Amino acid sequence: MLIKTKAITLKSTPFKDRSKILQVLTDDLGIVSIIVKSLSKKNLNMLSFCSPFTISEIILKKNRSDIYSLRDLSLVDANMHLRKNLKDLTAASFMIKAILDSHIYQKKDFNLFLLLKSYLKKISINPDAIHLSFLLKLLSNEGFLHLKTKCSNCEKDAISLLNGESLCFEHSNSYAIKFELEDFKKIFVLCFSKSFALLKDIEISKNLKEKVNALFQELI
Ligand SMILES: [Zn+2]
Repeated sequence: MLIKTKAITLKSTPFKDRSKILQVLTDDLGIVSIIVKSLSKKNLNMLSFCSPFTISEIILKKNRSDIYSLRDLSLVDANMHLRKNLKDLTAASFMIKAILDSHIYQKKDFNLFLLLKSYLKKISINPDAIHLSFLLKLLSNEGFLHLKTKCSNCEKDAISLLNGESLCFEHSNSYAIKFELEDFKKIFVLCFSKSFALLKDIEISKNLKEKVNALFQELI
């Protein structure tokens, strides 16, 4: 059976002579592995498909193993702009690593492909904010993070996160990740904002970046 889908290349691993195994995030199948055979330096489209961040339209054939084979390919966007700025490229690489590290399942109400596609496109507006927003949306949509303005146990303002639950100062303990109230509000914007204008102007401190990264590592 042939399957037509869109894909963003996440990772490419050399396999035998002139072959590669790719991991791609698809529009409708989640993450799939694809074997690409007989790679040649002359086939630039195929080489681009094997590079991370490239967006393509592909036709796949399902094999008996879990690895699909590629039947047809047309490039949509190689996202070359990411390779012109180290901060953009680093943030984009961390987003891809986050997808590969978490065991996501494709859900009907949350399209990770579309989120990654739009975030890669807009990354330069504020790479740190885009990166952290991506992590928080991933955690929230996978059900690992239950972000609330109020504490889960009382009516006070939440300022910390423990096992993905929002807690006030009194209900926190030493295991909780605590935030300044201002930073907790920023986490809200990063997690729920659907507007790039809001992400563009948000200032991300080193401290906030470290805490959101720690939160992601803890919850996935
Ligand atoms: Zn409380």
